[in-house]
Amino acid sequence: MQVVTGKSVLNGIAIGKIKVYKAPKLEISESLIEDTEGELKRFDSARERAIEQQNALYEKALIDAGEDSAEVFSVHAMMLEDDDLLDATNEIIRSQRHTAEYAVKVAFDNQAKVFAEMEDPYMRERAADIYDIEQAVLSNLFGINTDVLQGTEPCILAARDLTPSETVRLDKSLLLGIITKEGSLNSHTAILARSMGIPALVQCRDACEDWDGMDAIIDGYNSCVYIEPTEDLAKSLRKRKDKDTKQRALLQELKGKSNTTIDGRTIQVYANIGGPSDIGLVQQNDAGGVGLFRSEFVYLNARDYPTEEEQFNAYRLAVETLAPKQVIIRTCDIGADKQVEYMNMVKEENPALGVRAIRICLSRKDFFKTQLRALLRASAYGNLGIMFPMIISRRELRECKEILAECAEELQKQGMKIGSYAIGVMIETPAAVMIADELAEECDFFSIGTNDLTQYTLAIDRQNAGLDPFLDTHHPAVLREIKMTIDAGHRHGIWVGICGELGADLALTETFLRMGIDELSVNPVSILPLRKIIRGIDLSKAPAERTPEE
Ligand code: PEP
Ligand code: MG
Repeated sequence: MQVVTGKSVLNGIAIGKIKVYKAPKLEISESLIEDTEGELKRFDSARERAIEQQNALYEKALIDAGEDSAEVFSVHAMMLEDDDLLDATNEIIRSQRHTAEYAVKVAFDNQAKVFAEMEDPYMRERAADIYDIEQAVLSNLFGINTDVLQGTEPCILAARDLTPSETVRLDKSLLLGIITKEGSLNSHTAILARSMGIPALVQCRDACEDWDGMDAIIDGYNSCVYIEPTEDLAKSLRKRKDKDTKQRALLQELKGKSNTTIDGRTIQVYANIGGPSDIGLVQQNDAGGVGLFRSEFVYLNARDYPTEEEQFNAYRLAVETLAPKQVIIRTCDIGADKQVEYMNMVKEENPALGVRAIRICLSRKDFFKTQLRALLRASAYGNLGIMFPMIISRRELRECKEILAECAEELQKQGMKIGSYAIGVMIETPAAVMIADELAEECDFFSIGTNDLTQYTLAIDRQNAGLDPFLDTHHPAVLREIKMTIDAGHRHGIWVGICGELGADLALTETFLRMGIDELSVNPVSILPLRKIIRGIDLSKAPAERTPEE
């Protein structure tokens, strides 16, 4: 048995076989072949298989992301029938007597280059499609299964690191646990794993590629993974897992009960979600609403700008399914660690301090308007809150509201239905805390993003795990900022919540309640434990925890 430590994203146990994920590296030989007919047939069957795969992807994307996103796969399937491309590949095999792999690489690359040099931006983008189908054909020639990142069996996925978009693409129903060599506890990948209730270890430095297929147990309580565990250990951890399951069942009893302290103070407990596929988790965990719908996952999940229609469908689904519960959708927070290729963002020295979130939206007005129009249309189907991230000035907030009003006017002229909606601001920079009184005059609620607020207050990069020894997640500066924000909000009659990870820190629940917090929005699996803690607090008694004023 081998024991390797890391940092635990979620207290839980995952038991299963490891699947190591690494992007395939394809070595293509230049050697010549004798059997050109055989090679032509190899190419043809790899290509036909690729067409079948693209058609299957189309079907999957149709269900997951709608018609517009799915279309790219039918275009790929058509490209794989393109006569010029087929002739060029066949010719290299036939007359130059190269392998099918070599011929595909040369012919497809050449075709992609032709597209890449075209004037028309739409045509230029087709180069990426050619590379995509080239990869599909090559993978088939090499016999590589690229269906899903983690294969088709339930597994613990081990990887060097996973980007947020890779994590989004994972098939959650087959994912038992995640192990990464790199990554940090506060990264979006970790947040995602947490919200899916999946035990995950990051910074598992000694994780090994040879683990593929081995039995493993992630012990989130002790921040380690056991490879080929002994039968005794497996037995005791299985027991622990059963205990967790029973505990969760017990907590289910809290469903339907109010989040009221012993002395009668009630707050809202909402859920943080990453997209419509998490709606089930909101319902299962009986959340009072959604306090943070991270809409950027709609962008990270796409290969190109999501259209108004695609966004409207995703937002409407959440708002309509959960009505009359409130669903707070945060406008796009791309940038920093969340990059999407198709947005062609300029590389920055300090992306966390760069053009991210509202700064992108305000500098790309049409892009912003597409999302705002989709949100306004979704408002007709339930109880929507629209929340702006990374606001640092009243001017920015006013500009957002003006663009929103412009969109509403346009939609009304087009005869589209719009419902009522609340407007909120994320308080996630020290600047926003300092001007919270001014901001509160312009909006209906505040939601404190403690992940970024901590990063910007303590000047600690949330992505840099090497800074963990310097990170005090209960730092008095951050706690005082939370108190200042709550007080400013209340002075102006608006409610104040927390949607950063600190909201789920049970050691601080009483502190937040004493500060006067109105709402806590946490990952769905933290909802019931949080509610249990709230119901056991008595604010009329002396505080059990320190408060920032002390
Ligand atoms: C935050 O910063 O606390 C927050 C909730 O937003 P994100 O983690 O998506 O940046
Ligand atoms: Mg943030």
